[in-house]
Amino acid sequence: MTLEDKLKALIEAGGPVPLSAYMTACLHDPDLGYYATRPGLGTDFITAPETSQIFGELIGLWLVHEWRALGSPAPFTLCEPGPGRATMLNDALRAAKAYPDFLAAMRLTLIEASPALRAVQAERLADHEPEFVADVSKLPSDSPALIVANEYLDCLPARQFIMDAGQWHERVVGLDQAGALSLGIAADTAPDAPQAVGGLIEVQPGLEQLVSVLSDRAAPFRALFVDYGPDNGPPGDSLRAYRQGNQVDPLSDPGACDLTVDVDFSRLAKLACAAGLSVAGPVSQGAFLGALGIQDRLNALIKAQPDRADTLFAGTQKLVDPAEMGTRFKAICLSSPGLASPAGL
Ligand code: SAH
Repeated sequence: MTLEDKLKALIEAGGPVPLSAYMTACLHDPDLGYYATRPGLGTDFITAPETSQIFGELIGLWLVHEWRALGSPAPFTLCEPGPGRATMLNDALRAAKAYPDFLAAMRLTLIEASPALRAVQAERLADHEPEFVADVSKLPSDSPALIVANEYLDCLPARQFIMDAGQWHERVVGLDQAGALSLGIAADTAPDAPQAVGGLIEVQPGLEQLVSVLSDRAAPFRALFVDYGPDNGPPGDSLRAYRQGNQVDPLSDPGACDLTVDVDFSRLAKLACAAGLSVAGPVSQGAFLGALGIQDRLNALIKAQPDRADTLFAGTQKLVDPAEMGTRFKAICLSSPGLASPAGL
């Protein structure tokens, strides 16, 4: 049975499903979902840490700096949700080797939905004896935490609502007359649709859950998220599917493509402020990495490895160039109430 067959049977029996439920099934179905069956990192899409080692290295130095700002707690939890191939942490913890007190105090905790990627992460980070937990709410609540994630928030399923005849309706995946998966709107109105001016609105309920879990934490924390999305209002319909580097129809071949949405950074900042957290950013990835010293790090690497100069330069450019990842990607840091702003934001 394919995931498409499974979804069609589900819809035939129970009616259309919200877009968020479709996205959850496509990404996380334990047998047929994308993450379970074909974690296409590096083939379906390329992330910042996979683009240049400098990304992870700067994150590593940022982590050491913020650990000191928290008063160098020992032990502390370092947590990465959605580590992918663990490249960012690999580079970050290599850069942190110059600070053995940081590494000695660190308890590494990973949050990963894909069993295949969990195996890769456990192997590549074996020296640091990572532990796995199901979500941020399962982090030890009595020790300070540094949380860092790249391209994790964009995987959190989105709901969409459409204004029709003056009422909000949820966007759903149903079946057309030929029996194919198709987008439609729910017959019932959606009283839980967020307040917005007409048209279409997209929200990720996972952002609320994340803020709520973070604001419930007793011990101090900082949580840095780097991802793509606008910082000047909701993204509109941003659901996209990628397969082998190409953008494809999100309803085509469920479970075989990566599904993603833009992160609504202004909403995340607003939710976090309302929950009493300290919020720094969002700032563009280019500005963030610039403030952390990407140029100096590039110069040092080129000096040490002149034969790799072209590759090193191209990778760095891709991260900071406004025409590539520099502006579309943003960094935001949520911290426990009262903590001063972190470096770079
Ligand atoms: N951070 C990595 C990988 C990004 S891809 C990088 O930058 O290269 C997204 C990652 O998040 C994958 O590892 C995916 O399996 C994981 N993921 C997606 N949704 C998740 C969820 N709900 N819980 C835990 N991990 C999730």
